[in-house]
Amino acid sequence: MNENNEAPFHSGFISIIGRPNVGKSTLLNRLVGEKIAAVSRKPQTTRNRIMGVSTTAHAQRIYVDTPGLHGAHTELNRYMVRQALESLKDVDLVLVLLDARSRELEREAMVWDASGAAGARVIVCPNKVDRVARVTLLPLIEAIARRTGVTEVVPISALTGENVDTLEKLIDGHLPEGPHYFPDDALTDQPERFIAAEFIREKVFILTNQEIPYSTAVVVEGFREEPNRGLVVIDAGILVERDSQKGIIIGRQGRMLKRIGTEARRDIERFLGVRVFLELRVRVEKNWTERAAAMRKLGYS
Ligand code: GDP
Ligand code: MG
Repeated sequence: MNENNEAPFHSGFISIIGRPNVGKSTLLNRLVGEKIAAVSRKPQTTRNRIMGVSTTAHAQRIYVDTPGLHGAHTELNRYMVRQALESLKDVDLVLVLLDARSRELEREAMVWDASGAAGARVIVCPNKVDRVARVTLLPLIEAIARRTGVTEVVPISALTGENVDTLEKLIDGHLPEGPHYFPDDALTDQPERFIAAEFIREKVFILTNQEIPYSTAVVVEGFREEPNRGLVVIDAGILVERDSQKGIIIGRQGRMLKRIGTEARRDIERFLGVRVFLELRVRVEKNWTERAAAMRKLGYS
């Protein structure tokens, strides 16, 4: 580097993978510095690939959050696994997350063995270290580092941010010289309406129980900016598979739907930086998870 600011610029694609619920979306949001991905305690919140972009004076990192790698039982699950494996191609680096509390290292290892086999450089991050005792961490790190295909091991807490700055420095070290793929202020490749749908779906996940979350899709049918009123008007449909599910999402006297709407609206307003008027409707589309046609319509293919 010199005073003429001629340091080479580095950029590249980083895939974030790992089993459901290990904290991939939480990490993506932290790395980007803004909430762009849906997070919840229930697995499989992330259905599509979401790219998160973070740019400094020296580097642009483009993170790809992927749905979990796990058994593919339904059409939807198979789609998610395919997306996860696809994301390993053409990336500069793979971040494999695992729950530092997990005792099933062999099962976790399948994920990074697959990544290493695909020829990728792999950083393994035992996540949620805020929940484990330090003494248990060292043997875990050693056990992971011994595996072939692992380039580095970096324990982190995506939730508290612990050690995430160290991780970012390591990431930058692996990125090749490259262009600005996105504008420097970009946070994501996703259109705003997709982010809005993700926030709504997240609230359904968090606020409802049992099979409801897995039977839900959200489609944003209208997204209208009204600059004169300083407002964005969003019309969204929540699709469920059965009438009974529709009833649960609407709730007694419409209370559940109202809560979903209020909480989602707050997130969308924070993301867009403007006031939002959110209109939600619940609709029954029978067996949509099994129907490829319906999935295509929802943008999952
Ligand atoms: P994903 O399925 O891998 O995308 O996981 P999420 O990001 O949706 O996170 C799943 C759950 O784990 C959420 O309840 C998060 O708040 C929680 N979580 C994620 N990272 C951490 C962490 O570092 N520490 C703790 N204690 N919880 C975390
Ligand atoms: Mg996720």
